[in-house]
Amino acid sequence: MYRCNSCGALNNVRPGASGTAVCGRCKAALDLSGTPQDVDAAGLTRAVNSASVPVLVDFWAPWCGPCRMTSPVVESFAREARGRFITLKVNTDENPAAANAYGIQSIPTFLVFRNGSVVARHSGALGKEALASWAGQASSLSAQA
Ligand SMILES: [Zn+2]
Repeated sequence: MYRCNSCGALNNVRPGASGTAVCGRCKAALDLSGTPQDVDAAGLTRAVNSASVPVLVDFWAPWCGPCRMTSPVVESFAREARGRFITLKVNTDENPAAANAYGIQSIPTFLVFRNGSVVARHSGALGKEALASWAGQASSLSAQA
């Protein structure tokens, strides 16, 4: 499953031989690289409520050193987990409502959603292996945490 970076629609895609696909709603070319996408509060809500795969969300801000350090880790995870996870980024300076909605007290904070609910939460920077292992475990949890 991939999120359209143009309209926010979620697409179930099996890339063709060319490795490309277009959004079923707006026909924009889908980014199949898995690169994390920036969302606002509304985009976050839409994505977590309609995704049939786990959604990893990185709450960050430009002035936060640990966030900048972790950013390449998140990007690398997102690319490797493309299709199996949707990875989103929320800039908490630009989207305080999204941060408030999920009680984000410090950044970076990572949330994993399944079926619209938070199933795991981690605050603080993570290395690549730690992030992959944490997210992998989180993705098998059912919604209640
Ligand atoms: Zn679209």
